[in-house]
Amino acid sequence: MEITPDATVMVVDDEADIRDASERILTRIGFQVLKASRGDEGLVLLEKEKASIVLLDLKMPGMDGLEVLKHIRVMDEKIQVIVITGYATVETAIEAMKRGAYDFISKPFEPDQLRIVVNRAWEKISLRREAEKLEEERRRTLSDLDTEKSRIHTILESFPSGVVVTNSRGQVVLMNPAFRQLLDLDPGLKTGDPIEDYVPDKKLCNLVTEISQGKHIDFDDIPDYEFSLSDEKYLMATGQPVLGERKECLGAVLNVVDITALKLLDQLKSEFVAKVSHELRSPLSTIHEQLALVIRDMVGENVAQDQHILSRAKEKTKGLIALIGDLLDLSRIEEGIICHEPQPVRIEDLLANIVDFLKTGARKKNQSISLGLPKEPLPELSADPIALESIFGNLITNAINYTQDGGKIQVEVDMAGINVRVKVKDNGFGISDKYLDKIFERFYRVKDEKTRYITGTGLGLPIVKGLIDSMGAFINVESAPGKGTEFTVLLPIKAKPPG
Ligand code: ATP
Ligand code: MG
Repeated sequence: MEITPDATVMVVDDEADIRDASERILTRIGFQVLKASRGDEGLVLLEKEKASIVLLDLKMPGMDGLEVLKHIRVMDEKIQVIVITGYATVETAIEAMKRGAYDFISKPFEPDQLRIVVNRAWEKISLRREAEKLEEERRRTLSDLDTEKSRIHTILESFPSGVVVTNSRGQVVLMNPAFRQLLDLDPGLKTGDPIEDYVPDKKLCNLVTEISQGKHIDFDDIPDYEFSLSDEKYLMATGQPVLGERKECLGAVLNVVDITALKLLDQLKSEFVAKVSHELRSPLSTIHEQLALVIRDMVGENVAQDQHILSRAKEKTKGLIALIGDLLDLSRIEEGIICHEPQPVRIEDLLANIVDFLKTGARKKNQSISLGLPKEPLPELSADPIALESIFGNLITNAINYTQDGGKIQVEVDMAGINVRVKVKDNGFGISDKYLDKIFERFYRVKDEKTRYITGTGLGLPIVKGLIDSMGAFINVESAPGKGTEFTVLLPIKAKPPG
Protein backbone atom coordinates (compact mmCIF):
# COMPACT_ATOMS: atom_id res chain seq x y z
CA MET A 1 0.00 0.00 0.00
CA GLU A 2 1.38 3.32 -1.01
CA ILE A 3 1.34 6.31 1.29
CA THR A 4 0.59 9.25 -0.98
CA PRO A 5 1.82 12.82 -0.28
CA ASP A 6 -1.68 13.88 0.72
CA ALA A 7 -1.85 11.23 3.47
CA THR A 8 -2.30 13.44 6.55
CA VAL A 9 -2.94 12.43 10.13
CA MET A 10 -4.13 14.92 12.74
CA VAL A 11 -3.28 14.14 16.36
CA VAL A 12 -5.65 15.70 18.89
CA ASP A 13 -4.38 15.13 22.43
CA ASP A 14 -3.80 17.32 25.47
CA GLU A 15 -0.57 15.47 26.27
CA ALA A 16 2.34 17.05 24.41
CA ASP A 17 4.41 13.80 24.70
CA ILE A 18 1.79 11.76 22.89
CA ARG A 19 1.47 14.43 20.16
CA ASP A 20 5.22 14.62 19.58
CA ALA A 21 5.84 10.87 19.75
CA SER A 22 3.01 10.20 17.28
CA GLU A 23 4.38 12.86 14.93
CA ARG A 24 7.82 11.29 14.98
CA ILE A 25 6.59 7.76 14.38
CA LEU A 26 4.16 8.69 11.62
CA THR A 27 6.32 11.15 9.66
CA ARG A 28 8.99 8.50 9.51
CA ILE A 29 6.69 6.17 7.55
CA GLY A 30 5.55 8.92 5.19
CA PHE A 31 2.51 10.63 6.74
CA GLN A 32 2.04 14.37 7.13
CA VAL A 33 1.12 15.18 10.70
CA LEU A 34 -0.99 18.03 12.14
CA LYS A 35 -1.24 18.56 15.87
CA ALA A 36 -3.87 20.04 18.18
CA SER A 37 -3.94 20.10 22.01
CA ARG A 38 -7.70 20.64 22.38
CA GLY A 39 -10.87 19.43 20.67
CA ASP A 40 -12.11 22.82 19.43
CA GLU A 41 -8.62 23.70 18.21
CA GLY A 42 -8.56 20.40 16.26
CA LEU A 43 -11.90 21.13 14.60
CA VAL A 44 -10.73 24.60 13.48
CA LEU A 45 -7.52 23.10 12.08
CA LEU A 46 -9.50 20.41 10.28
CA GLU A 47 -11.61 23.06 8.57
CA LYS A 48 -8.48 24.72 7.18
CA GLU A 49 -6.27 21.77 6.37
CA LYS A 50 -7.39 18.41 5.10
CA ALA A 51 -6.65 15.28 7.10
CA SER A 52 -7.68 11.75 6.20
CA ILE A 53 -7.12 10.25 9.61
CA VAL A 54 -7.66 11.75 13.06
CA LEU A 55 -6.04 10.32 16.19
CA LEU A 56 -8.39 11.51 18.88
CA ASP A 57 -7.88 11.47 22.65
CA LEU A 58 -11.19 10.83 24.38
CA LYS A 59 -10.36 12.52 27.67
CA MET A 60 -9.41 16.10 27.22
CA PRO A 61 -10.22 19.28 29.10
CA GLY A 62 -12.90 21.40 27.40
CA MET A 63 -14.72 19.64 24.54
CA ASP A 64 -14.30 15.90 25.11
CA GLY A 65 -13.45 13.31 22.45
CA LEU A 66 -16.97 12.00 21.83
CA GLU A 67 -18.21 15.53 21.18
CA VAL A 68 -15.33 16.17 18.75
CA LEU A 69 -16.10 12.86 17.03
CA LYS A 70 -19.70 13.96 16.49
CA HIS A 71 -18.56 17.17 14.80
CA ILE A 72 -16.05 15.36 12.61
CA ARG A 73 -18.71 12.89 11.43
CA VAL A 74 -20.91 15.78 10.34
CA MET A 75 -18.02 17.61 8.71
CA ASP A 76 -16.71 14.79 6.55
CA GLU A 77 -17.78 11.19 6.99
CA LYS A 78 -14.80 9.91 5.00
CA ILE A 79 -12.34 10.91 7.72
CA GLN A 80 -11.21 7.85 9.68
CA VAL A 81 -11.11 8.51 13.39
CA ILE A 82 -8.97 6.40 15.72
CA VAL A 83 -9.68 7.06 19.38
CA ILE A 84 -6.92 7.05 22.01
CA THR A 85 -8.07 5.73 25.37
CA GLY A 86 -6.68 5.03 28.81
CA TYR A 87 -7.30 1.53 30.35
CA ALA A 88 -10.13 2.92 32.37
CA THR A 89 -12.10 4.11 29.41
CA VAL A 90 -12.48 1.00 27.30
CA GLU A 91 -16.26 1.35 27.53
CA THR A 92 -16.03 4.86 26.17
CA ALA A 93 -13.91 3.50 23.37
CA ILE A 94 -16.62 1.03 22.49
CA GLU A 95 -19.15 3.83 22.63
CA ALA A 96 -16.94 5.84 20.28
CA MET A 97 -16.75 2.92 17.86
CA LYS A 98 -20.52 2.72 17.89
CA ARG A 99 -20.67 6.36 16.97
CA GLY A 100 -18.53 5.89 13.92
CA ALA A 101 -14.91 5.77 15.07
CA TYR A 102 -12.92 3.32 12.98
CA ASP A 103 -10.55 1.86 15.57
CA PHE A 104 -8.99 2.52 18.91
CA ILE A 105 -5.57 2.38 20.57
CA SER A 106 -4.86 2.35 24.29
CA LYS A 107 -2.41 4.53 26.13
CA PRO A 108 0.47 4.02 26.54
CA PHE A 109 1.22 2.47 23.13
CA GLU A 110 4.26 1.09 21.39
CA PRO A 111 5.38 2.70 18.08
CA ASP A 112 4.47 -0.56 16.27
CA GLN A 113 0.94 -0.54 17.63
CA LEU A 114 0.45 3.01 16.37
CA ARG A 115 1.88 2.15 12.97
CA ILE A 116 -0.44 -0.83 12.62
CA VAL A 117 -3.70 1.00 13.42
CA VAL A 118 -2.84 4.04 11.31
CA ASN A 119 -1.76 1.88 8.39
CA ARG A 120 -4.96 -0.11 8.63
CA ALA A 121 -7.04 3.08 8.51
CA TRP A 122 -5.00 4.31 5.57
CA GLU A 123 -5.55 1.02 3.77
CA LYS A 124 -9.26 1.43 4.15
CA ILE A 125 -9.07 4.94 2.70
CA SER A 126 -6.95 3.75 -0.22
CA LEU A 127 -9.36 0.94 -1.04
CA ARG A 128 -12.29 3.29 -1.01
CA ARG A 129 -10.46 5.77 -3.25
CA GLU A 130 -9.64 2.97 -5.65
CA ALA A 131 -13.28 1.90 -5.77
CA GLU A 132 -14.36 5.48 -6.36
CA LYS A 133 -11.87 5.82 -9.19
CA LEU A 134 -13.18 2.68 -10.90
CA GLU A 135 -16.74 3.87 -10.51
CA GLU A 136 -15.80 7.25 -12.01
CA GLU A 137 -14.12 5.55 -14.97
CA ARG A 138 -17.16 3.40 -15.57
CA ARG A 139 -19.37 6.48 -15.51
CA ARG A 140 -17.05 8.25 -17.93
CA THR A 141 -17.03 5.46 -20.53
CA LEU A 142 -20.79 5.27 -20.28
CA SER A 143 -21.11 8.97 -20.89
CA ASP A 144 -18.54 8.75 -23.72
CA LEU A 145 -20.63 6.05 -25.35
CA ASP A 146 -23.63 8.23 -24.89
CA THR A 147 -22.06 11.25 -26.60
CA GLU A 148 -20.68 9.01 -29.38
CA LYS A 149 -24.19 7.72 -29.95
CA SER A 150 -25.68 11.16 -30.07
CA ARG A 151 -22.91 12.35 -32.37
CA ILE A 152 -23.65 9.58 -34.88
CA HIS A 153 -27.33 10.34 -34.49
CA THR A 154 -26.77 14.03 -35.27
CA ILE A 155 -24.65 13.21 -38.32
CA LEU A 156 -27.29 10.83 -39.66
CA GLU A 157 -30.08 13.31 -39.02
CA SER A 158 -28.35 16.03 -40.99
CA PHE A 159 -27.02 13.73 -43.73
CA PRO A 160 -28.23 15.04 -47.10
CA SER A 161 -28.81 11.63 -48.69
CA GLY A 162 -31.35 9.15 -47.46
CA VAL A 163 -30.10 6.40 -45.16
CA VAL A 164 -32.09 3.40 -44.00
CA VAL A 165 -30.78 0.45 -41.99
CA THR A 166 -32.42 -2.96 -41.72
CA ASN A 167 -31.76 -5.89 -39.43
CA SER A 168 -31.01 -9.40 -40.69
CA ARG A 169 -34.73 -10.07 -41.12
CA GLY A 170 -35.10 -7.10 -43.43
CA GLN A 171 -36.98 -4.96 -40.91
CA VAL A 172 -36.21 -1.26 -40.79
CA VAL A 173 -34.38 -0.32 -37.60
CA LEU A 174 -33.28 3.18 -38.47
CA MET A 175 -33.97 5.84 -41.08
CA ASN A 176 -33.04 9.49 -41.36
CA PRO A 177 -35.24 12.47 -42.28
CA ALA A 178 -33.74 12.66 -45.79
CA PHE A 179 -34.89 9.10 -46.46
CA ARG A 180 -38.44 9.88 -45.31
CA GLN A 181 -38.46 12.96 -47.48
CA LEU A 182 -37.08 11.23 -50.61
CA LEU A 183 -39.62 8.43 -50.34
CA ASP A 184 -42.49 10.76 -49.43
CA LEU A 185 -42.97 8.99 -46.10
CA ASP A 186 -44.89 10.45 -43.21
CA PRO A 187 -42.42 12.20 -40.82
CA GLY A 188 -44.01 10.39 -37.89
CA LEU A 189 -43.78 6.92 -39.46
CA LYS A 190 -42.20 4.47 -36.99
CA THR A 191 -39.41 1.99 -37.71
CA GLY A 192 -39.78 -1.73 -37.07
CA ASP A 193 -41.72 -2.98 -40.08
CA PRO A 194 -40.43 -4.88 -43.15
CA ILE A 195 -38.70 -2.73 -45.78
CA GLU A 196 -41.67 -3.29 -48.17
CA ASP A 197 -43.75 -1.00 -45.95
CA TYR A 198 -41.42 1.91 -46.68
CA VAL A 199 -40.11 1.34 -50.22
CA PRO A 200 -42.67 0.83 -52.99
CA ASP A 201 -40.23 -0.87 -55.42
CA LYS A 202 -40.48 -4.67 -55.21
CA LYS A 203 -37.12 -5.46 -56.81
CA LEU A 204 -35.27 -3.06 -54.55
CA CYS A 205 -36.96 -4.56 -51.50
CA ASN A 206 -35.87 -8.02 -52.62
CA LEU A 207 -32.31 -6.77 -53.02
CA VAL A 208 -32.32 -5.22 -49.53
CA THR A 209 -33.73 -8.42 -48.03
CA GLU A 210 -31.05 -10.47 -49.75
CA ILE A 211 -28.30 -8.15 -48.54
CA SER A 212 -29.77 -8.23 -45.00
CA GLN A 213 -29.68 -12.02 -45.04
CA GLY A 214 -26.02 -12.00 -45.97
CA LYS A 215 -26.35 -13.13 -49.58
CA HIS A 216 -24.09 -10.31 -50.84
CA ILE A 217 -21.11 -10.34 -48.53
CA ASP A 218 -18.84 -9.31 -51.38
CA PHE A 219 -19.31 -5.52 -51.45
CA ASP A 220 -18.37 -5.20 -55.11
CA ASP A 221 -21.09 -7.43 -56.50
CA ILE A 222 -23.96 -5.19 -55.38
CA PRO A 223 -25.17 -3.05 -58.26
CA ASP A 224 -26.53 0.46 -57.90
CA TYR A 225 -30.26 0.39 -58.33
CA GLU A 226 -32.30 3.07 -60.09
CA PHE A 227 -36.02 3.41 -59.54
CA SER A 228 -38.72 6.01 -59.81
CA LEU A 229 -41.59 6.92 -57.53
CA SER A 230 -43.44 8.83 -60.19
CA ASP A 231 -42.62 10.29 -63.59
CA GLU A 232 -41.07 13.28 -61.88
CA LYS A 233 -38.82 11.63 -59.34
CA TYR A 234 -35.89 9.30 -60.03
CA LEU A 235 -33.87 7.80 -57.20
CA MET A 236 -30.69 5.76 -57.04
CA ALA A 237 -30.06 3.34 -54.19
CA THR A 238 -26.80 1.73 -53.13
CA GLY A 239 -26.98 -1.14 -50.68
CA GLN A 240 -24.31 -2.60 -48.50
CA PRO A 241 -24.25 -5.32 -45.83
CA VAL A 242 -23.55 -4.37 -42.21
CA LEU A 243 -21.00 -6.86 -40.91
CA GLY A 244 -20.37 -7.76 -37.28
CA GLU A 245 -17.04 -8.44 -35.62
CA ARG A 246 -16.95 -12.01 -36.85
CA LYS A 247 -17.91 -10.91 -40.37
CA GLU A 248 -21.43 -12.18 -39.84
CA CYS A 249 -24.18 -10.20 -41.55
CA LEU A 250 -26.22 -8.08 -39.15
CA GLY A 251 -28.36 -6.33 -41.74
CA ALA A 252 -28.16 -3.86 -44.58
CA VAL A 253 -27.65 -0.17 -45.01
CA LEU A 254 -29.16 1.55 -48.00
CA ASN A 255 -28.12 4.95 -49.28
CA VAL A 256 -30.64 6.75 -51.48
CA VAL A 257 -29.99 9.85 -53.60
CA ASP A 258 -32.18 11.89 -55.90
CA ILE A 259 -30.98 11.64 -59.51
CA THR A 260 -33.95 13.36 -61.14
CA ALA A 261 -31.86 16.31 -62.31
CA LEU A 262 -29.20 14.02 -63.80
CA LYS A 263 -31.82 11.96 -65.58
CA LEU A 264 -33.37 15.05 -67.05
CA LEU A 265 -29.99 16.29 -68.22
CA ASP A 266 -29.22 12.95 -69.80
CA GLN A 267 -32.52 12.93 -71.59
CA LEU A 268 -31.98 16.49 -72.86
CA LYS A 269 -28.53 15.53 -74.07
CA SER A 270 -29.84 12.53 -75.97
CA GLU A 271 -32.60 14.59 -77.53
CA PHE A 272 -30.09 17.23 -78.50
CA VAL A 273 -27.72 14.68 -80.05
CA ALA A 274 -30.57 13.11 -81.97
CA LYS A 275 -31.79 16.44 -83.26
CA VAL A 276 -28.40 17.77 -84.28
CA SER A 277 -27.42 14.52 -85.97
CA HIS A 278 -30.60 14.44 -87.90
CA GLU A 279 -30.24 18.03 -89.07
CA LEU A 280 -26.63 17.42 -90.15
CA ARG A 281 -27.03 14.18 -91.99
CA SER A 282 -28.94 15.19 -95.11
CA PRO A 283 -26.93 18.33 -96.02
CA LEU A 284 -23.71 16.37 -95.47
CA SER A 285 -24.88 13.51 -97.64
CA THR A 286 -25.75 16.00 -100.36
CA ILE A 287 -22.29 17.57 -100.18
CA HIS A 288 -20.79 14.09 -100.34
CA GLU A 289 -22.75 13.24 -103.50
CA GLN A 290 -21.88 16.56 -105.11
CA LEU A 291 -18.19 16.16 -104.38
CA ALA A 292 -18.29 12.72 -105.96
CA LEU A 293 -19.89 14.19 -109.10
CA VAL A 294 -17.37 17.02 -109.36
CA ILE A 295 -14.43 14.64 -108.94
CA ARG A 296 -15.77 12.36 -111.64
CA ASP A 297 -16.45 15.13 -114.18
CA MET A 298 -13.37 17.24 -113.66
CA VAL A 299 -11.36 18.40 -116.69
CA GLY A 300 -8.77 21.18 -116.98
CA GLU A 301 -5.27 22.08 -115.90
CA ASN A 302 -4.57 21.24 -112.26
CA VAL A 303 -6.95 18.35 -112.31
CA ALA A 304 -4.75 15.92 -110.41
CA GLN A 305 -4.11 18.42 -107.62
CA ASP A 306 -7.79 19.46 -107.34
CA GLN A 307 -8.90 15.90 -107.45
CA HIS A 308 -6.60 15.09 -104.57
CA ILE A 309 -7.95 17.94 -102.43
CA LEU A 310 -11.56 17.13 -103.24
CA SER A 311 -11.02 13.42 -102.57
CA ARG A 312 -9.75 14.23 -99.13
CA ALA A 313 -12.77 16.43 -98.55
CA LYS A 314 -14.96 13.55 -99.68
CA GLU A 315 -13.22 11.17 -97.27
CA LYS A 316 -13.85 13.59 -94.44
CA THR A 317 -17.55 13.86 -95.26
CA LYS A 318 -17.71 10.06 -95.26
CA GLY A 319 -16.24 9.98 -91.77
CA LEU A 320 -18.71 12.58 -90.59
CA ILE A 321 -21.67 10.72 -92.06
CA ALA A 322 -20.55 7.55 -90.24
CA LEU A 323 -20.23 9.48 -87.01
CA ILE A 324 -23.71 10.90 -87.37
CA GLY A 325 -25.02 7.43 -88.15
CA ASP A 326 -23.48 6.22 -84.88
CA LEU A 327 -25.00 9.07 -82.93
CA LEU A 328 -28.42 8.38 -84.38
CA ASP A 329 -28.08 4.67 -83.61
CA LEU A 330 -27.16 5.50 -80.07
CA SER A 331 -30.09 7.78 -79.43
CA ARG A 332 -32.43 5.25 -80.99
CA ILE A 333 -31.03 2.51 -78.78
CA GLU A 334 -31.53 4.77 -75.78
CA GLU A 335 -35.11 5.29 -76.76
CA GLY A 336 -35.39 1.53 -77.15
CA ILE A 337 -36.46 1.55 -80.77
CA ILE A 338 -33.43 0.23 -82.63
CA CYS A 339 -34.05 -3.47 -82.10
CA HIS A 340 -36.10 -4.93 -84.87
CA GLU A 341 -38.24 -8.00 -84.47
CA PRO A 342 -36.11 -11.09 -83.78
CA GLN A 343 -35.54 -13.41 -86.76
CA PRO A 344 -33.83 -16.80 -87.05
CA VAL A 345 -30.07 -16.22 -87.24
CA ARG A 346 -27.23 -18.67 -87.83
CA ILE A 347 -24.51 -17.07 -85.77
CA GLU A 348 -21.68 -19.04 -87.47
CA ASP A 349 -22.66 -17.59 -90.86
CA LEU A 350 -23.16 -14.12 -89.50
CA LEU A 351 -19.69 -14.11 -87.88
CA ALA A 352 -18.07 -15.63 -90.99
CA ASN A 353 -19.49 -12.79 -93.07
CA ILE A 354 -18.23 -10.09 -90.73
CA VAL A 355 -14.76 -11.66 -90.48
CA ASP A 356 -14.63 -11.91 -94.25
CA PHE A 357 -15.65 -8.30 -94.62
CA LEU A 358 -13.11 -6.99 -92.10
CA LYS A 359 -10.26 -9.22 -93.32
CA THR A 360 -9.05 -6.52 -95.73
CA GLY A 361 -8.43 -4.15 -92.83
CA ALA A 362 -6.50 -6.80 -90.92
CA ARG A 363 -4.46 -7.76 -93.94
CA LYS A 364 -3.32 -4.14 -94.36
CA LYS A 365 -1.78 -4.42 -90.92
CA ASN A 366 -0.38 -7.90 -91.57
CA GLN A 367 -2.61 -9.31 -88.86
CA SER A 368 -4.01 -12.82 -88.85
CA ILE A 369 -7.69 -13.18 -88.19
CA SER A 370 -9.43 -16.48 -87.52
CA LEU A 371 -12.88 -17.78 -86.69
CA GLY A 372 -13.09 -20.83 -84.41
CA LEU A 373 -16.32 -22.86 -84.60
CA PRO A 374 -17.40 -25.77 -82.36
CA LYS A 375 -17.64 -29.31 -83.76
CA GLU A 376 -21.34 -29.55 -83.00
CA PRO A 377 -23.52 -27.14 -84.95
CA LEU A 378 -24.92 -24.34 -82.80
CA PRO A 379 -28.65 -23.85 -82.33
CA GLU A 380 -30.29 -21.22 -84.44
CA LEU A 381 -30.70 -17.91 -82.60
CA SER A 382 -33.75 -15.77 -82.55
CA ALA A 383 -32.38 -12.22 -82.67
CA ASP A 384 -32.07 -9.03 -84.67
CA PRO A 385 -29.28 -9.73 -87.22
CA ILE A 386 -28.54 -6.03 -87.73
CA ALA A 387 -27.93 -5.60 -84.00
CA LEU A 388 -25.63 -8.68 -83.99
CA GLU A 389 -23.69 -7.34 -86.97
CA SER A 390 -23.24 -4.02 -85.24
CA ILE A 391 -22.05 -5.68 -82.01
CA PHE A 392 -19.47 -7.99 -83.56
CA GLY A 393 -18.51 -5.52 -86.30
CA ASN A 394 -17.56 -3.02 -83.60
CA LEU A 395 -15.72 -5.53 -81.41
CA ILE A 396 -13.69 -6.99 -84.28
CA THR A 397 -12.92 -3.54 -85.74
CA ASN A 398 -11.64 -2.46 -82.33
CA ALA A 399 -9.51 -5.61 -82.07
CA ILE A 400 -7.92 -4.78 -85.42
CA ASN A 401 -7.51 -1.08 -84.63
CA TYR A 402 -6.01 -1.52 -81.18
CA THR A 403 -3.57 -4.28 -82.10
CA GLN A 404 -0.11 -3.65 -83.52
CA ASP A 405 0.93 -4.68 -87.04
CA GLY A 406 1.48 -8.43 -87.29
CA GLY A 407 -0.86 -9.15 -84.36
CA LYS A 408 -3.41 -11.92 -84.00
CA ILE A 409 -7.20 -11.63 -83.82
CA GLN A 410 -9.30 -14.65 -82.87
CA VAL A 411 -13.07 -14.91 -82.93
CA GLU A 412 -14.43 -18.00 -81.20
CA VAL A 413 -17.97 -19.21 -80.80
CA ASP A 414 -19.35 -22.07 -78.67
CA MET A 415 -22.09 -22.98 -76.21
CA ALA A 416 -21.84 -21.93 -72.54
CA GLY A 417 -24.74 -23.46 -70.66
CA ILE A 418 -27.92 -22.16 -72.22
CA ASN A 419 -26.17 -19.30 -74.00
CA VAL A 420 -24.16 -18.97 -77.17
CA ARG A 421 -20.77 -17.56 -76.27
CA VAL A 422 -18.73 -15.42 -78.65
CA LYS A 423 -15.20 -14.35 -77.78
CA VAL A 424 -13.27 -11.67 -79.62
CA LYS A 425 -9.61 -11.91 -78.60
CA ASP A 426 -6.56 -9.94 -79.66
CA ASN A 427 -2.94 -9.81 -78.56
CA GLY A 428 -2.80 -6.04 -78.93
CA PHE A 429 -2.35 -2.96 -76.73
CA GLY A 430 -4.71 -4.03 -73.95
CA ILE A 431 -6.55 -1.71 -71.56
CA SER A 432 -5.49 -1.04 -68.01
CA ASP A 433 -7.95 -1.95 -65.25
CA LYS A 434 -8.82 1.59 -64.37
CA TYR A 435 -10.30 2.26 -67.82
CA LEU A 436 -12.25 -0.98 -68.17
CA ASP A 437 -15.52 0.52 -66.93
CA LYS A 438 -15.04 3.75 -68.80
CA ILE A 439 -14.70 2.36 -72.33
CA PHE A 440 -18.46 1.72 -72.43
CA GLU A 441 -19.18 5.40 -71.83
CA ARG A 442 -20.04 7.65 -74.74
CA PHE A 443 -17.06 9.39 -76.35
CA TYR A 444 -14.59 7.74 -74.02
CA ARG A 445 -11.30 6.82 -75.66
CA VAL A 446 -8.08 5.73 -73.97
CA LYS A 447 -5.44 8.28 -74.84
CA ASP A 448 -1.84 7.16 -74.84
CA GLU A 449 1.15 6.96 -77.15
CA LYS A 450 -0.19 3.91 -78.99
CA THR A 451 -3.81 4.94 -79.52
CA ARG A 452 -3.09 8.56 -80.27
CA TYR A 453 -3.03 8.27 -84.04
CA ILE A 454 -5.98 5.90 -84.34
CA THR A 455 -9.12 7.75 -85.34
CA GLY A 456 -12.43 6.98 -83.69
CA THR A 457 -15.15 8.71 -81.76
CA GLY A 458 -15.63 6.52 -78.72
CA LEU A 459 -19.16 5.55 -79.68
CA GLY A 460 -18.59 1.94 -80.79
CA LEU A 461 -18.71 0.29 -77.38
CA PRO A 462 -21.61 2.36 -76.00
CA ILE A 463 -23.62 1.21 -79.03
CA VAL A 464 -22.54 -2.39 -78.40
CA LYS A 465 -23.54 -2.11 -74.75
CA GLY A 466 -26.90 -0.54 -75.60
CA LEU A 467 -27.72 -3.33 -78.05
CA ILE A 468 -26.53 -6.05 -75.66
CA ASP A 469 -28.76 -4.69 -72.89
CA SER A 470 -31.78 -4.29 -75.11
CA MET A 471 -31.63 -7.91 -76.30
CA GLY A 472 -31.06 -9.33 -72.82
CA ALA A 473 -27.49 -10.44 -73.58
CA PHE A 474 -24.34 -10.00 -71.50
CA ILE A 475 -20.87 -8.63 -72.21
CA ASN A 476 -17.62 -8.86 -70.26
CA VAL A 477 -14.11 -7.64 -70.96
CA GLU A 478 -10.79 -8.80 -69.64
CA SER A 479 -7.57 -7.16 -70.60
CA ALA A 480 -3.92 -6.83 -69.74
CA PRO A 481 -1.91 -3.85 -70.99
CA GLY A 482 0.71 -4.97 -73.52
CA LYS A 483 -0.76 -8.49 -73.72
CA GLY A 484 -4.19 -8.16 -75.26
CA THR A 485 -7.91 -7.95 -74.74
CA GLU A 486 -10.73 -10.46 -74.68
CA PHE A 487 -14.39 -9.47 -75.01
CA THR A 488 -16.91 -12.21 -74.16
CA VAL A 489 -20.53 -11.94 -75.25
CA LEU A 490 -23.23 -14.31 -73.99
CA LEU A 491 -26.26 -14.41 -76.27
CA PRO A 492 -29.56 -15.94 -75.20
CA ILE A 493 -30.91 -18.37 -77.78
CA LYS A 494 -34.07 -16.34 -77.83
CA ALA A 495 -33.38 -12.60 -77.62
CA LYS A 496 -35.68 -10.32 -75.66
CA PRO A 497 -38.12 -8.78 -78.13
CA PRO A 498 -37.73 -5.01 -78.63
CA GLY A 499 -39.56 -2.59 -76.34
P1 ATP B 1 -15.48 4.28 -82.61
O1 ATP B 1 -16.67 5.06 -82.16
O2 ATP B 1 -15.04 4.64 -83.95
O3 ATP B 1 -15.63 2.82 -82.38
P2 ATP B 1 -13.43 3.99 -80.65
O4 ATP B 1 -12.98 2.70 -81.21
O5 ATP B 1 -12.40 4.86 -80.06
O6 ATP B 1 -14.28 4.81 -81.66
P3 ATP B 1 -14.95 2.41 -78.82
O7 ATP B 1 -15.12 1.33 -79.81
O8 ATP B 1 -16.11 2.77 -77.96
O9 ATP B 1 -14.49 3.75 -79.49
O10 ATP B 1 -13.76 2.04 -77.86
C1 ATP B 1 -13.43 2.92 -76.78
C2 ATP B 1 -11.99 2.80 -76.42
O11 ATP B 1 -11.74 1.54 -75.85
C3 ATP B 1 -11.04 2.88 -77.57
O12 ATP B 1 -10.73 4.22 -77.88
C4 ATP B 1 -9.83 2.12 -77.08
O13 ATP B 1 -9.02 2.98 -76.32
C5 ATP B 1 -10.43 1.09 -76.15
N1 ATP B 1 -10.54 -0.24 -76.80
C6 ATP B 1 -11.64 -0.79 -77.35
N2 ATP B 1 -11.40 -2.02 -77.79
C7 ATP B 1 -10.10 -2.29 -77.54
C8 ATP B 1 -9.22 -3.41 -77.77
N3 ATP B 1 -9.64 -4.54 -78.36
N4 ATP B 1 -7.93 -3.31 -77.35
C9 ATP B 1 -7.50 -2.19 -76.72
N5 ATP B 1 -8.27 -1.11 -76.49
C10 ATP B 1 -9.55 -1.14 -76.89
MG1 MG C 1 -14.42 1.27 -81.90
